[in-house]
Amino acid sequence: MEILRRQFLQHVGQTSDAPLMIEVARAEGIYFYTPDGKRYVDLISGVSVSNVGHGNREVVEAVCAQARDYMHVMVYGELVERPQVRYAEAIAGLLPEPLESVYFVNSGAEAVEGALKLAKRHTHRTEIVSFCNAYHGSTHGAMSVMGGEEFVGAYRPLLPDTRKLRYNAFEDLEQITERTACVLVEPVQGESGVRLPEAGFLAALRERCSAVGALLIFDEIQTGFGRTGEMFALLKYGVVPDMLCLAKALGGGMPLGAFVSSGGIMAGLRSDPPLGHITTFGGHPVCCAAGLAALEYICRHDLARQAEAKGALFERLLGDHPAVREIRRSGLLVAVELGDSVRLYRAMELLKEAGYLSDWFLFCDTAFRISPPLTITETQVRECCAAIRAGVLDKL
Ligand code: PLP
Repeated sequence: MEILRRQFLQHVGQTSDAPLMIEVARAEGIYFYTPDGKRYVDLISGVSVSNVGHGNREVVEAVCAQARDYMHVMVYGELVERPQVRYAEAIAGLLPEPLESVYFVNSGAEAVEGALKLAKRHTHRTEIVSFCNAYHGSTHGAMSVMGGEEFVGAYRPLLPDTRKLRYNAFEDLEQITERTACVLVEPVQGESGVRLPEAGFLAALRERCSAVGALLIFDEIQTGFGRTGEMFALLKYGVVPDMLCLAKALGGGMPLGAFVSSGGIMAGLRSDPPLGHITTFGGHPVCCAAGLAALEYICRHDLARQAEAKGALFERLLGDHPAVREIRRSGLLVAVELGDSVRLYRAMELLKEAGYLSDWFLFCDTAFRISPPLTITETQVRECCAAIRAGVLDKL
């Protein structure tokens, strides 16, 4: 085996026994390339990270400019750093009231941790409610509220006083009570294989939380920044949570997370006791500069609206193939359902051979993911679909 791959397996901590093992030399737009020039189409976007495409010039320039001015100077929250302030203001400007205060962290899992802590702090309650087949991150707190006992069991004990409801089960909502600190929900469930909320479900959840005084937290770590056809899914469904978790595309390709709430709720972290959540690198100026450049790019090119049209085109061009059972989709977050895992694994091999990077979902191994950069062109969508039909679906 070539030396770099051997060193990768030996010295880089592994997450499974079956890494993809493709070496990346460079990435541009919807493509990335190996050192020997093989081109792959990125149908994952680093899991909904690269919404503005790889190597986006405006983001790269923002990163370089900020790195030249200053990088890390002081832990989060002490100094006034222009990229952070400008980005927080821009995010708040896109969100409905009262979501105005942005607490920057490093990752999605940390955003979830911060939001859960803040909810307990604000309500003085301990119960945390989440949903079956949800994914919220891999730290202890985030794992406590995710689905999939097969991933979680070995790490118990986790957080006490958690409860899981069935997504879209209206009748489960009465289990949210005056004991509940918060309810954490993905407005569109990503890792369960793209499951959409039934009409009225998120509104009913909002109503129940308000009635019992529990905080409603939306995890838009995967759905944010245009992926579902609106800048945020909460705008699509017209439901305003008390808190919002962001990450992935938030950093424009750099590592960044955030939880957002009203100023009043956020105040809970700063006194009695102070330092309720602290982080060295959260809101790193280079990451904030990158994120702001990416956000401006999404807005200027209307990528959110385009995501809906491009997702619909994928659905139309793949949905009628006999090997496809169903397409589930929110904007350009697409699951192509094949009905069984054997066919899915075969499809994954064929996709890789054909130069397409896709994967299945953490809680759904019968469907493959199509979530390319939102910058994909209509021509590229058509090319992808023709290649996937001929090189993958026809061979199943
Ligand atoms: N929440 C959702 C909905 C996610 O999809 C993910 C990651 O896939 C996370 C949280 C965790 O984010 P991170 O990997 O940055 O910790």
